[in-house]
Amino acid sequence: MTLTPPTAAVPIEPLAEAVQAGLPTAIADLSDLVRIPSVSWAAFDPAHVQKSADAVAALLQGTGVFESVKISRATIGETDALGQPAVLATRAARNGAPTILLYAHHDVQPPGKDEDWETSPFEPTVKGDRLYGRGAADDKAGVMAHVAAIRALVETTGSDFDLGLAVFIEGEEEFGSRSFKNFLMQHRDELAADVIVVADSDNWDVDTPALTVALRGNVTFRLTISTLGHASHSGMFGGAVPDAMLATTRLLATLHDEQGTPAVAGLTTHDAPVPDSAEEDLRRDAALLEGVSSIGTGPILERMWFKPSITVTGIDAPDVANASNTLIPSVAVRISVRIAPGQRAEDAFEAIKAHLEANAPFGAHLAIDDVDLGNPFLVDTSGWAVAEAKQAMADAWGTAAVDTGVGGSIPFIADLVEQFPDAQILVTGVEDPDTRAHSPNESLHLGVFKRAILTEAILLARLNAGRSGNV
Ligand SMILES: [Zn+2]
Repeated sequence: MTLTPPTAAVPIEPLAEAVQAGLPTAIADLSDLVRIPSVSWAAFDPAHVQKSADAVAALLQGTGVFESVKISRATIGETDALGQPAVLATRAARNGAPTILLYAHHDVQPPGKDEDWETSPFEPTVKGDRLYGRGAADDKAGVMAHVAAIRALVETTGSDFDLGLAVFIEGEEEFGSRSFKNFLMQHRDELAADVIVVADSDNWDVDTPALTVALRGNVTFRLTISTLGHASHSGMFGGAVPDAMLATTRLLATLHDEQGTPAVAGLTTHDAPVPDSAEEDLRRDAALLEGVSSIGTGPILERMWFKPSITVTGIDAPDVANASNTLIPSVAVRISVRIAPGQRAEDAFEAIKAHLEANAPFGAHLAIDDVDLGNPFLVDTSGWAVAEAKQAMADAWGTAAVDTGVGGSIPFIADLVEQFPDAQILVTGVEDPDTRAHSPNESLHLGVFKRAILTEAILLARLNAGRSGNV
């Protein structure tokens, strides 16, 4: 849809005051959410996830702007099994105003071992300018950023505004978003929006906002390499009979060139500028050992955001303790490929498959199964919503946003793109480089939290006022 013509700029000051005044309540509400151990994994008590969904629904209800707030569960894939409860709140747009969908998730990763935490994982604790606890950042702060931004909008414009709002707070993002696709289909009409904000990503640092504009996709599969019908004595047949390990190591070695760059024809690279990043930062963050070089060529962030990478993440072969003098008939490996934004996962998979088949040494037999494909994500940064989001970030943070890529994947974003091809998707977040999401001592920087809320409040206010960028 097209937006109504732009109006005068929205004044920032009243929004900033409302966000500041509401911050203690937002932190208290966030702390209450963190106290609920809503781990969505199968081995954990689903009652906590339900309780957390109830709490989120109450917070959304409390804003007083929604026509409907409900908790809903969708089936998983083709089965009758239900996914974890999600919260869906909606309010229809009025007078031609746009609709914005705000996404976050209320489930969390398991805490891991208590002794690895300096504070109790489900007892939110403020130390310095950070709030510690499982989910304090990922992604209960994303949930609260949405709630607090809506509160600030109501504070400054009243609850009788034109902007259409849908809030979708998922309950199993950390467990593979198993029912996500069915949820989208089931609630298609309620979720339809002009702009989608996915608040589940990172900022450049605690003083610099980032808009995530590219995510790599993934292709993973099991590859089984076989050369013999059965194992044989390596002393008797060695030297004349190829064992599967020899075939495997030679085949895997063809996947990269001398510098460690993927050497598979047909894997593409995304061409876009990246910020500078120092080699010593990479060495420190990834703990490279003395004398070990980095791999690939070109700027470091380009290698991690915009180029493919190929990693062998597992191998099934006799272990060393049980090694006997035997020619191994068959070896299985798990291959994990990150693919560049702009390439379809299926095309990348076909390219890798063709490479493996063309390079199988000694006529070794190959079998591929257990394939998992996730498409990459690339934002069209020329869209008006991107301009609006960046302006809001600049206003809220006092500094321009950095366009970032993420080497990892957020697979459900591909589902969003597929279901809502016309929506503009903005991937924002409350995390910073020290957040340690998924790890012990996860924390939220409270300054980042405030600026993320203000950013979103400004964005909501601008869209409500019908602006479509610097037209
Ligand atoms: Zn998350």
